[in-house]
Amino acid sequence: MTINFNWVRKDLLPYNDMFRKARSKSRNPMNSCKWCGNQFADNEMISLAQPTKGKNFVLCKKCADEAIGGEDIQSVEVGNDE
Ligand SMILES: [Zn+2]
Repeated sequence: MTINFNWVRKDLLPYNDMFRKARSKSRNPMNSCKWCGNQFADNEMISLAQPTKGKNFVLCKKCADEAIGGEDIQSVEVGNDE
């Protein structure tokens, strides 16, 4: 399927205790990259993407750089996502 993005913010914030604490009350802990599924390492920089439909999701640095590319991204192909 194709996801169209309103924006992608690279290196928005680090994955650390503060982030984990903030997300722990949520049903979506955002502890792994939505794209490649890898769990974030401590202090890894997280990127946030807002699709035109659905909820914002987080990406690891590698995916933000390689899969998503620059901030001018309009659409990307993703795999078996719900
Ligand atoms: Zn990733």
